[in-house]
Amino acid sequence: SVPLSYFGGIGAASKKGVLIKGGNYLEGLTQVKTVIFDKTGTLSKGVFDVVRIDLPAGAVYSEKEILKFSAAAESFSNHPIALSIVSAAKEDESVGFAGTSQVSDHTEYAGLGIKAVCSGKTILVGNMKLMAQENIAVPDLLSVGLTAETETHIYVAVDGTFAGRIAISDVVKPDSKDALSRLKRLGVEKTIMVTGDTDKVGHAFAADLGLDTVYTERLPHQKVDALEEIETQTKSVNPKAKVAFVGDGINDAPALTRADVGIAVGGVGSDAAVEAADIVLMTGDPTQLADAFDVAKKTKKIVY
Ligand code: ADP
Ligand code: MG
Repeated sequence: SVPLSYFGGIGAASKKGVLIKGGNYLEGLTQVKTVIFDKTGTLSKGVFDVVRIDLPAGAVYSEKEILKFSAAAESFSNHPIALSIVSAAKEDESVGFAGTSQVSDHTEYAGLGIKAVCSGKTILVGNMKLMAQENIAVPDLLSVGLTAETETHIYVAVDGTFAGRIAISDVVKPDSKDALSRLKRLGVEKTIMVTGDTDKVGHAFAADLGLDTVYTERLPHQKVDALEEIETQTKSVNPKAKVAFVGDGINDAPALTRADVGIAVGGVGSDAAVEAADIVLMTGDPTQLADAFDVAKKTKKIVY
């Protein structure tokens, strides 16, 4: 049974905007030595700006057409990338984005992107893995110049031919760095990021944030494999050590369920993540994560 004062800890946590679904999770937090993070929406804001659209030589479609087609294809998705592309298309009236009305068919491939039929054209919007899956040759792009390391590239094909690339960028949440250093002071030994994004982008974010390790290009089901690998490593050093996973997306739900302690980022996070988790950060502010560890530690001191 759980000592009564864990209920006091749950109350203290809730005042800081942290929902803890049981006293055992608060106790579990005090044994967490490794924290694994998702990137988009967890450590980063998950709100992308469209910074540029790159065209191939002899482009058939204009930048505006590429934005219009990709926004239509993304219009049924609630992935952060989809929301950003749709809002960029809506912002510029001259793009002529007509919402979902022109979409007759669409498929979302988790960790890859979207395939949709819009006004009779087959549109693909996603990463290089999606282009490979659909046998789309991606040529060199017209002089793009230097691009930011943290820029994510989304490739667009129309009727089987590459049409252009959308460069989008996200930024870290203002309190991520501070929360990560507080975790270290509260006894966490390793901070790790597992992302579906590319090596280049993943490593740029990890270096900026000062994370210990980063796993990149992981499809949603491979996030659980990474978690199991990390868990084995952690427990081989200290069998009592626990691993926490922090994520926001529907894609993170399996890892949130599987981890010793699953922590969902609320606010912008998906309902599936909130349901799968043991602990919910109500506004998604990373400060709340450090607060949860802090409350757990103080509660333990009272209990023992
Ligand atoms: P993360 O691990 O960063 O939270 P996801 O696993 O959700 O990301 O997605 C990984 C990658 O898959 C994205 O960086 C993007 O390249 C691609 N992707 C996923 N969903 C979409 C979408 N709706 N539109 C375009 N690209 C997508
Ligand atoms: Mg995410």
